[in-house]
Amino acid sequence: MKLRGVVVGLLLSSLVLVACGRETSPGATSTKVPGPSVAQNVTVQGSPAFARMAQRGTVVIGVKNDQPGLGYLNPKTNKYEGFDIEIARLIAAKLGFDPQSKIEYKAIPSAAREQAISNGQIDYYVGTYTINDARKKQISFAGPYFIAGQSLLVKADDKSITGPETLKGKRVCSATGSTPIQRVRQQGLTDQIVEFQTYSQCVDQLLAGQVDAVTTDDAILKGYAAQDPQHLKVVGKPFSQEPYGVGLPLTDNALRAKVNDVLDAAAKDGTWTQIYNGTLGASGSTATPPAVDRY
Ligand code: GLU
Repeated sequence: MKLRGVVVGLLLSSLVLVACGRETSPGATSTKVPGPSVAQNVTVQGSPAFARMAQRGTVVIGVKNDQPGLGYLNPKTNKYEGFDIEIARLIAAKLGFDPQSKIEYKAIPSAAREQAISNGQIDYYVGTYTINDARKKQISFAGPYFIAGQSLLVKADDKSITGPETLKGKRVCSATGSTPIQRVRQQGLTDQIVEFQTYSQCVDQLLAGQVDAVTTDDAILKGYAAQDPQHLKVVGKPFSQEPYGVGLPLTDNALRAKVNDVLDAAAKDGTWTQIYNGTLGASGSTATPPAVDRY
């Protein structure tokens, strides 16, 4: 793993960053994904959110900042990077905003996403955000642009946890307001649930021996394991389907259609694969884009 040398520093620094809560930074990112071309003279008829962005001259995007490979504020570069960030940048570019200079990122934890979208604090959200019916009552989703699945992260030397059926009596950590924590509760997988705002806090608890497992999407957990493969591993098979969507204001159908067009085009013209290969797929895994669901 190329990341290995910087692992300890990253973990320590990311703790400090996460502790600050909402983090904003300049728009640039640092990955191997080529920057998208910026569309000119874009209009999105009938979209209040687009009108707001156009008036402001910038786009405010809600993201995660502590999920390596997906949405990550790299403390070494002070830039955002990852699959979700590249999707967010692509959408901005196709809405006419230069990702290098016209994006403001806001780090928003799982439990605060619906509120941040519906009160207009952000224009859209891209951050491991599962599309589901409960959330669709408060906001709307473009996508999906990726399908993940719930999994388990444990200490590398743990032999007792191998899948969801082995969690009884174990201390299991996840994020407040997430679908994985709901599933642990609903399925009664354990009665010892520990919750934090962010998954990196759970990972710290796991490394410190305060919890036995962290549960959330495999894509997220693999990122933590890749940063510290000596101490962490992902176990078992994914036990849910988590289709990731772009979170948008509930009634902004025009923006939803436009973002779906962008995702659709990226799937067809190879941009999606380029983004995947430069981020989540950097260690050699492959994937294909899901079809968007214009519900
Ligand atoms: N995809 C799941 C969710 O949206 C877990 C990841 C997250 O919390 O962002 O709840």
